[in-house]
Amino acid sequence: MEANIKLLQRMTEWAGFGAKTEQLIFAQFNELLTKVPLLYFVLLVSSLALTYTYYGVAPDYLTVHVAAFLSVACVLRAFKWYRFRFQNFTQLQALHQIRMTVLFSIIMGFGFSIWGFALYGYGDISLRVHVAYYMSVTVIGIIVCLLHLPAAVWSTTLTVGAPFVVFFVNTGELIFVAIAVNFLLVAAVLVLITLSYYRAFSNVIAAKEELQTQHQHTQQLNIQNELLANLDGLTELANRRSFSKHLSQKLRENIDKQCFVVALIDLDGFKPVNDIHGHAAGDRVLKEVSQRLIKVLKGKGFLARIGGDEFALVIDHDNCHEAIQSLGNNITKEIQKPFEMRTGLVQISGSCGFAIYPEGGESVDELMDSADFALYEAKTASRGSSIIFSGEHKRLIKQKSKLELALNQSIKNSELSLNYQPIVDGKTGEIIALEALARWNNPELGMVPPDEFIMIAEKSGMVTEITLCLFEKAVRDLKNWPEHLFLSFNLSVHDVMNQHTLQRLSEILQEHCVSEQRVQLEITETIMMSDLEHCSNTTKMLQQKGFMIALDDFGSGYSSLSYLHKLAFDNLKIDRGFVKNLLEDPRSQGVVKTIVELCSSFNVSCTVEGVETAKQRDLLLTLGCQQMQGYYFYRPAKIEDLKL
Ligand code: C2E
Ligand code: CA
Ligand code: CA
Repeated sequence: MEANIKLLQRMTEWAGFGAKTEQLIFAQFNELLTKVPLLYFVLLVSSLALTYTYYGVAPDYLTVHVAAFLSVACVLRAFKWYRFRFQNFTQLQALHQIRMTVLFSIIMGFGFSIWGFALYGYGDISLRVHVAYYMSVTVIGIIVCLLHLPAAVWSTTLTVGAPFVVFFVNTGELIFVAIAVNFLLVAAVLVLITLSYYRAFSNVIAAKEELQTQHQHTQQLNIQNELLANLDGLTELANRRSFSKHLSQKLRENIDKQCFVVALIDLDGFKPVNDIHGHAAGDRVLKEVSQRLIKVLKGKGFLARIGGDEFALVIDHDNCHEAIQSLGNNITKEIQKPFEMRTGLVQISGSCGFAIYPEGGESVDELMDSADFALYEAKTASRGSSIIFSGEHKRLIKQKSKLELALNQSIKNSELSLNYQPIVDGKTGEIIALEALARWNNPELGMVPPDEFIMIAEKSGMVTEITLCLFEKAVRDLKNWPEHLFLSFNLSVHDVMNQHTLQRLSEILQEHCVSEQRVQLEITETIMMSDLEHCSNTTKMLQQKGFMIALDDFGSGYSSLSYLHKLAFDNLKIDRGFVKNLLEDPRSQGVVKTIVELCSSFNVSCTVEGVETAKQRDLLLTLGCQQMQGYYFYRPAKIEDLKL
């Protein structure tokens, strides 16, 4: 059954009756626009010739009236098709005209055949031959003209050709039988050629159509790619690339130097959200932040997400610092509102740095650098604040680059040295370890505080060299200390992330025949939180080598007790911020007590930093603290000045 259906399908396709696409319909219609008028011209000329030869022989109603009627029909049809050239057709209308053409080929075919047979009855042999000639030539002419319309080819062949063959074979006269057989063979060949031509024609159209669809598809893909390349997939805001494009276009078009503002917004404490609540929660926070920012901006400005938790904004604004500051406040306030997560409420903050065009810079890079500088200042001043880039910042940048240059020379000129601050047993005052603290004394700049120059070294890529140089100094000193004392050494964020630096630390110890067990590495809580997973892997690896790990400045950043169990460490250093108000503030006392208890439950030791008075020491002892560090016991000093 199925095979029969398939065979039937193939036969209809072979005969030119297959399904038609829109393109094929229009292609056929376009071909007919030129061919149909030609067809009627052929028919008209042949019919007039036959009328002429039969005039006076056959009755007038045949030679004059019928011929005139058929001719007028031809002219009208030809004219109609000629006029189609200047009209627009829908697919349905075109299809209708194609069908009409098939219908007319049947009607006209019958009409002219009957007329021909009627005339045949009146002529002598030569006139009859003319009828045979007229009919055969006309059918062949029509078939050629309707090459692109197989239905019409079939209908003409069957309505005119078939009666023609039957009629002339039946006359029994040899010459007509010969003409009929000759016509039959030629017409059959012609139909076959026509069908094969039509198949090729429809294949070309189908191929064109396929090409067109492919082209459209490629175009759509291109548009999609372009969109994706400029869009941040998560928040659907513009991305860094499109932000830069937008900013440079704005600068190009801003011929009259209209004032506008570039802002960089960075989330504080976003990383812990990812680490503690999972990436899905992190994504939701980012989406929500982008929605809140859009709300604050009321649809104005060009907002983009240019990095993990970094957003950027360009907005037309007048150079009014108060108004810009108030925009900054609105932005940071909105970010500070808690986020509802499945795992509970999450709170983060956002800092904001503004650069105003043109004071803050006249190019994309300058404006971005200025906004970035202001952002950094905002983050260090107080998280969740916003700062506008100013002349004072410009001066600071200059000073920093001066510092950078001097720092570069400091290593060669041996300007870097170490001070040591003991870590003691709070009860007995006995020294347990010495923390190495970097010092830089520059002839021109004087003493530069370590947190300041370490930060510059980190930014300019000099920190590895400085760390390794200081570590070597410290290890040389350590060799002269009593066996029970260990060295506590501070690492910067770059050191923790750099496998090479960590590897070199072990090598330096080996070169000096000192065991890793005599060294504690201090890593600040903020470094740990910047990449919890990486840091916990690194600290585990360092512990395996024999190093002790101290979690430094605990409580100064986004400390969350809930992540402590994820980290590998041996000692927790409570930030001196808690000790400062310890005597007056019962909350600080509570926090310190809780941390001390937590440490003992984790089986790690705990050191309190910044102990400055005997009263603080006594209170800390009652809270359970053992190890302490601070000016009360020792100030950082040169190794020679410490009696070990
Ligand atoms: P830190 O690791 O928290 O070091 C303790 C800082 O607190 C030292 O400041 C120390 O002088 C100060 N300090 C100690 N006891 C007291 C006290 O009782 N009261 C007060 N107010 N302060 C006290 P310093 O030497 O200026 O170092 C500052 C920071 O610079 C260090 O903080 C550390 O983060 C960084 N740093 C110092 N040396 C190095 C180093 O060699 N490498 C790295 N990467 N960072 C270093
Ligand atoms: Ca430290
Ligand atoms: Ca510390």
